[in-house]
Amino acid sequence: MTQPMIELRGIHKRFADLEVLRGVDLTVRAGEVVVLMGPSGSGKTTLVRCMNLLEEPDSGHLRVCDCAFDCGSPRDRAGRRLARQARRRTGMVFQQFNLFPHMTALGNVIEGPRQVRQLPMSEAIALGERLLDRVGLSGKRDEYPSRLSGGQKQRVAIARALAMEPRAVLFDEPTSALDPELHAEVLEVIRELAGEGMTMVIVTHETHFAREIADRIVFMDGGVIVEEAAPEAFFTRPTQERARSFLRLVD
Ligand code: ADP
Repeated sequence: MTQPMIELRGIHKRFADLEVLRGVDLTVRAGEVVVLMGPSGSGKTTLVRCMNLLEEPDSGHLRVCDCAFDCGSPRDRAGRRLARQARRRTGMVFQQFNLFPHMTALGNVIEGPRQVRQLPMSEAIALGERLLDRVGLSGKRDEYPSRLSGGQKQRVAIARALAMEPRAVLFDEPTSALDPELHAEVLEVIRELAGEGMTMVIVTHETHFAREIADRIVFMDGGVIVEEAAPEAFFTRPTQERARSFLRLVD
């Protein structure tokens, strides 16, 4: 639990004249589950997207496992390779699933291993079947996303992220597009991953789940981290007024 898996130092990001991240420092240790909370617009999604380089920070230092680099300056070939490697060390699970609609559940899971890891088809299929089984969907391998429930789609998306054998998984509000009765099946899969020691960063408004699963709550507001604490301390005695007023609204 001590070795840093993801390290962000002085991360800044702006969209036009809106400064969304205003100097974020965060360390996520191997095996740690960090839950990012905060009001809408505080920069949580942008921060997890920066960890995966789906957004390029304007400045700051980023390290994912063994890949470390400065952000914001043009990259040479070696730098681009390092960035690609860093991106592959983390898997991303999106609010809206982002499955390929023209591919079956299995097709979605094996696309990355086939294209990026260049696994032979038979190995990719074996891996995909194993992962679909792990998220409780072995019976759905040949279904297209349009015939899956939201909870099933999100579980396929988790299997797809795991298929790249990431060192950490980033979740951006994984249940917020789902009907409430479908939350549990997705949270259960995340809970199992935590039990297996997966390093995870989870953006969620689900306070009960956050309290149960997080090793640490990181509370953001206005593009900065305002408070970091163990869940029990954060939920029972937040030190910052902004965290207190947020908790009054979500509880
Ligand atoms: P949160 O996840 O905490 O709700 P976001 O990171 O999604 O916050 O957004 C922070 C701010 O950045 C919001 O004001 C949002 O409108 C803005 N923003 C996010 N992505 C973009 C983008 N691609 N282009 C312009 N503005 C964006």
